[in-house]
Amino acid sequence: MEKTLPLAEHARARNRTKGAPVPFFTQADTFRELWPEIRANCTRVLDRGKFSHGSVVAEFERALARWTGAAHVVGVNSGTDALVLLLRAAGLRPGDEVVVPAYTFVATATSVVLAGGVPVFADIEERGYGIDPRSVDAVATPRTRMVMPVHLFDRLADMRGVHEVARRRGLTVVEDSAEAIGMRLDGTHAGLLGTGGVLSFFPAKTLGAIGDAGAVLTDDDTVAESVRALRHHGRGGRTLDHFPGISNATVLPGCNSKMDDIQAAVLLAKLGRLDAGIARRAELSARYDARLRGIPGVLAVPGDAAPHPGGDRVTYVHLIEAEDRDALAAHLAARGIGTETYYPTPLHLQPCFAHLGHRAGDFPRAEAACAAALALPLHADLSDADLDRVCDEIEHFYAGRRA
Ligand SMILES: *Cc1c(COP(=O)(O)O)cnc(C)c1O
Repeated sequence: MEKTLPLAEHARARNRTKGAPVPFFTQADTFRELWPEIRANCTRVLDRGKFSHGSVVAEFERALARWTGAAHVVGVNSGTDALVLLLRAAGLRPGDEVVVPAYTFVATATSVVLAGGVPVFADIEERGYGIDPRSVDAVATPRTRMVMPVHLFDRLADMRGVHEVARRRGLTVVEDSAEAIGMRLDGTHAGLLGTGGVLSFFPAKTLGAIGDAGAVLTDDDTVAESVRALRHHGRGGRTLDHFPGISNATVLPGCNSKMDDIQAAVLLAKLGRLDAGIARRAELSARYDARLRGIPGVLAVPGDAAPHPGGDRVTYVHLIEAEDRDALAAHLAARGIGTETYYPTPLHLQPCFAHLGHRAGDFPRAEAACAAALALPLHADLSDADLDRVCDEIEHFYAGRRA
């Protein structure tokens, strides 16, 4: 029988057919390697027949609480619902404003709307793509109640700067830490740097499920209790004790946002390999930087900008800034190399926020990032040889343009 190599070694050693496609994301090898554990966990769920309200979600929550150091992990059905429930549990009232960056995944801002609030956009920092605390200060109004920094790609936002503004203005800090599993500030995990945060287990995230799933992280007992009630129609938790005469007391108009046990079964198995996966991503990221730094046309590589002091770099997405970004992406696509544009449109120019009255030019740094950013293939199954091929093709593209 073929010997099973540990994940990272396997990926490092693999030498695919020359010129074979390099997908933007795949986890086929990870799944193959983890299959015995995944199958055992899934079989437990199937044999018991408890697909909702089973015990495996709670088991995963406890395991993730240990891994992150969170007092509470509440499993839900997506990162987006995690944001909506967190905002409501943290006390957002109808019409309250929440400051969010203009450069992020759209769910950062749509979740504010779904929770009954109003998003207010701020620009990002010069380097590193996090919300700019000075911009938060500039756009906040007396109706602003919260600020939601986002930790994008490989680093934390400037949390010290955000907290300084939040303290001065009396704002609650909640984190969109959907991409930030493993990122820590002086040892404290992302999502626990304010009132609470979220994780997304969308399949392509660093810890991915086999469908949609997410979680709320918090050290606040009351927030955790509310999220537990809100994910299950507004029922459950300690709140039940307050209404002893009513069976199935529904204390809040909640959602049906529970995590499925089958997702928890997969995530529980994959959590055991998360540290190895993160280490492999760090190797790949460093290799990309070393190869791409200095190529004319490559305007910025992630390693050029240091994280904020005390913050670890944990790469979810390896994002470069590139001259003629769309032409480069087309060149790579024609050679079977997958890339993604994170994020193609700044949120203040999205049609769903047209009523907020913004125009091009309002948040120049967010707009510049949208125009130049290109995410390269990066996942624990990527081989060194495939990474080198991506870099060779980028080099060829710009050499051809300059010839
Ligand atoms: C992935 C992501 C989300 C949404 O998570 P889903 O699980 O896909 O709903 C929210 N915010 C950011 C920054 C994300 O990257």
